[in-house]
Amino acid sequence: MSALPSSRVDAKRFGRRFEALAAIGATAAGGVDRQALSAADACAQALMVQWGRERGFLALHDAAGNLFLRRPGTLPGEPLVLSGSHLDTQPTGGRFDGVYGVLAALEALEALEDAGLACRRGIEAVAWMNEEGSRFAPGMMGSAVLTGARTLRATLAVTDADGISVEEALRETRSALPALADRPLDTPVCAYVEAHIEQGPVLEREGIPLGVVTGIQGKHTFRVEVRGEAAHAGTAPRRERRDALLAATAMVQAMASEFADAEDIIKFTVGRFDVTPNAPSVVPRRVAFSIDLRHPESQRLQALAARVAQLCDAHRGPCEVQVERLVAADAIAFDAGIRDRIATAAAHLGVPVLSLPSLAGHDAGLVARIAPAGMIFIPCRAGITHHEDEFAEMDHMIAGVRVLADVLHGLAR
Ligand SMILES: [Zn+2]
Repeated sequence: MSALPSSRVDAKRFGRRFEALAAIGATAAGGVDRQALSAADACAQALMVQWGRERGFLALHDAAGNLFLRRPGTLPGEPLVLSGSHLDTQPTGGRFDGVYGVLAALEALEALEDAGLACRRGIEAVAWMNEEGSRFAPGMMGSAVLTGARTLRATLAVTDADGISVEEALRETRSALPALADRPLDTPVCAYVEAHIEQGPVLEREGIPLGVVTGIQGKHTFRVEVRGEAAHAGTAPRRERRDALLAATAMVQAMASEFADAEDIIKFTVGRFDVTPNAPSVVPRRVAFSIDLRHPESQRLQALAARVAQLCDAHRGPCEVQVERLVAADAIAFDAGIRDRIATAAAHLGVPVLSLPSLAGHDAGLVARIAPAGMIFIPCRAGITHHEDEFAEMDHMIAGVRVLADVLHGLAR
């Protein structure tokens, strides 16, 4: 009987690759700024392609800009097992979010190679296009297109703050990469497992090195535009003003109070606030802001989301308001079979686990629409994430890779 792939996981190789990717888009404060489809993203993808090809894996791109490294199976017609995450980051992001899952998948493939374990099904390490939604909104674009949650056409038309479309940026990215095989969007997939840092404090607090993720809390996002009228800050009388900023802040305050539940389960965030003309002596004529609203129960979330437009309207004062819903992602429960495989593989390796929900969104939540999906969490320091201080222990990363490798082997053999 041959050894399991977990025995061939190479911590040094993983560590080298981790450092190499952390250097691409590295910030002075020790984090990473690697926006989706930027030059840095293309550079990271090119490195993945190089590493994959060195091991004889097939590198593919699909129409949505998702990158795949495939270790073929012995039965070519079989649906594929997928594992991965994303290479893009927030502008002051950390070194772990996303990258960990992509490299964990690649290391699992290499461990299978090193163990000489041929599998019936092919396995792909995937780097999803634009998970973060920082340069192009909303996030999770690549997995949304692959799973049919969004159309390719609408996605390619999205533009960034400089007016550059996803389509243009994708063309630019492809031109910086070696020629890749095309992967049809409807390529059959039979399972997906994503490894990720927890992005919360639970595993660290409990002293448990591995999380079996039960599901993902739902998330609705909105773009609110408040229109008033510009006026002179010194001469315009108060009763005649249509101050878009005062109206917008009243809306935000009203939502913040109504969504402040005693149990602290509702998560309400206004992370972007654009004031026009944003001049010290001009009454603002226009404010655009974002809303990110989350809850682990779909029904409750829908009820809360319905209140957004009502509260904005009730507090618009003399201004006009338009509320646009960008994302309406309900809560997701991961496949019981995948969860069981993760728990079993961990038990075999003597890695203690804890079952917990994910409070952040992940591509796995979308892939769950088309195939049994699940996630492995590892602890991160103090739950700090989307921040340059983000940190995870190498021992925890490797424990996660070892469990992932055995789970993928079980799914593919
Ligand atoms: Zn992530």
